[in-house]
Amino acid sequence: MKKQNILDRLRSGVVLGDGGYLLELEKRGYVKAGPFTPEVALEHPEALAQLHREFLRAGSEVLQTCTFYASREKLRSAGYAEQVEQINRAAVRIARSIAGEKALVAGNLSLTWQYAPDDASSEGRVLDLFRQQIALQVEEGVDFFIAETFHYLGEAMLALRAIKEAGYPAMITFNFKQPALSRDGRTPVECALELERQGADIVGANCGRDPEHMLPIVEQIRKAVKCHVAIQAAGFRCTDEVPYFMGLPQFPLELDPLQLTRMEMAAYARQARDIGIDYIGACCGVTAAHIRAMAEGLGRTTEASDKSPDLEIHPILGPEKAGKAAR
Ligand SMILES: [Zn+2]
Repeated sequence: MKKQNILDRLRSGVVLGDGGYLLELEKRGYVKAGPFTPEVALEHPEALAQLHREFLRAGSEVLQTCTFYASREKLRSAGYAEQVEQINRAAVRIARSIAGEKALVAGNLSLTWQYAPDDASSEGRVLDLFRQQIALQVEEGVDFFIAETFHYLGEAMLALRAIKEAGYPAMITFNFKQPALSRDGRTPVECALELERQGADIVGANCGRDPEHMLPIVEQIRKAVKCHVAIQAAGFRCTDEVPYFMGLPQFPLELDPLQLTRMEMAAYARQARDIGIDYIGACCGVTAAHIRAMAEGLGRTTEASDKSPDLEIHPILGPEKAGKAAR
């Protein structure tokens, strides 16, 4: 069966995305905390392939290429500027090899840290960085693009422009901190409306906030736009005072006890569906166990569902869970 493209797929129902790559691969020893750049695609391709495989088995219908922070200038900060081409190409090839015909592959772009609203020349430089990554990823074969976690609407618009020049569907998302405004002072709804006006196919929020602090934002966006809406929440428990995990004192090395449970992520997927969000994925802190729970929470059975919990068989929990006499 030929794969549908992302827009056909969204028209026929919720699309389940994947989870986070760089923080998880950091925990596994393949990514350096600090730069959080994705040279893993070159240095440990089997580690990246395995994480893709886990998400696919867990029910992800889209695999994102591990090219977050793979723009030339961000790679330069970690000493990998000369490998920009190899890293982008390798990451797409690995995602493709695992996705096969079972999942779509989303080329991934992210904020470049080079955008400066007061410096007119930064626009051209940022556009060139996006165009370079897009050309490489298109050559290796992606189905659409996710350009994510922007702070500035201005930079998000440049990413959208570069994706549309290449002729691909575009999902554009923001990482909203506190207050929930872009750094150029626009509300989430204003950002979404402007992106929709300029041709974005999917708009939404990504990373930073946990489900509790992200769902109300995408609900507002859902009511305002006609295009598809995406949510990719982080899997770390935030607070009302600091609703994004990068602002918590535990970031980045002591987040473990803040990780949300699979049940909480399953509830998140259902809540997102119920408010009309049609692209439901996740980001940092979200593993395959969470994605499987999200898929099953949406009523789906995944390849990994044959290993889903059956606590009735557990020697200690079983009788109690099954409502039988404990002894
Ligand atoms: Zn993230």
